[in-house]
Amino acid sequence: MSAYCVALSITRLGRLILWLTLLATVGLGCTASRHPAVRAELGTARSSDAMLAVASEPGPIEFQKIVAAKWVVIRSGLINLDHPKAKAAGLEDGDEPIEIYFYVLRHPRFGTYIVDSGVERAYESEEGSSRVSWLVKTAMRTETLEVEKSTAAWLAEQREPLAGVFITHIHLDHVMGLPDVPAETPIFVGPGEPVATQFLNLFTRGSIDAQFEGKAALREWPFAPDAAGRFDGVVDVFGDGSIWALHVPGHTPGSTAFLVRSTEGPHLLIGDATHTRFGWENGVEPGSFSHDPPRSAVSLEKLKSLEAEIPNLRVHPGHQSLP
Ligand SMILES: [Zn+2]
Repeated sequence: MSAYCVALSITRLGRLILWLTLLATVGLGCTASRHPAVRAELGTARSSDAMLAVASEPGPIEFQKIVAAKWVVIRSGLINLDHPKAKAAGLEDGDEPIEIYFYVLRHPRFGTYIVDSGVERAYESEEGSSRVSWLVKTAMRTETLEVEKSTAAWLAEQREPLAGVFITHIHLDHVMGLPDVPAETPIFVGPGEPVATQFLNLFTRGSIDAQFEGKAALREWPFAPDAAGRFDGVVDVFGDGSIWALHVPGHTPGSTAFLVRSTEGPHLLIGDATHTRFGWENGVEPGSFSHDPPRSAVSLEKLKSLEAEIPNLRVHPGHQSLP
């Protein structure tokens, strides 16, 4: 597949090949990343019934949500504006202010993990990161990023090393803090996430690969069919019921949500199953930013059903916070 995605010099033959390449790519797509991935040794596949049996009990995790940056992106990417509820609310396309988060999970025995990676320190400068292509920076409007706390700044305040990073999905705004993370820190992702193909990846893959540069192979959660049938897979991360990974495909094929049993009650980190407060409160899936919008709507519905089943659940949409 990689032969379809190389940049070609514009000679006459090159131009012909470029067109053939683009045509082939429309049909075949490029993988999200060329970085290697292996099956994670961490985590045990369980049933969602086992998760729900303990979900509302306080757990051992010290939980913290960090605002890494403020950002502005287009609403039609974040919200399916053709959804009847979006239409009824009169939502139109335009700029939507959002935030980039990462979540700190401190386990008393297994150490400190983060969910998603925040923002690399390089974005504190006007040029941003040299790891991201000009085209991607322009498309992502990284010039509107205002860094609140870079991942390097957060790491410098920690007393113990970071034990690992749980990535909800490998879109750039969820992996753009990884260059600040020590190379030896293990990185966990959903199954098939790096090899998922999409036309858009032709433009983003080099920039995504650069975030993983120098890191070991990504570790994919060992999801298996959920015996209770709620999710595409449920993994008990440490085997003690404290953190659960949930396979919620749609936004990307390997999208992963997390149910965290903190000392103060349960938190649900949904990744970009929906990005906004409106999306969660109205059950409206993302728009053009999703790989498979209809499938993401099904996954969002499944996550929303947890709200009714788990008392006092605090939910964290991808890029806006609930009151
Ligand atoms: Zn995102």
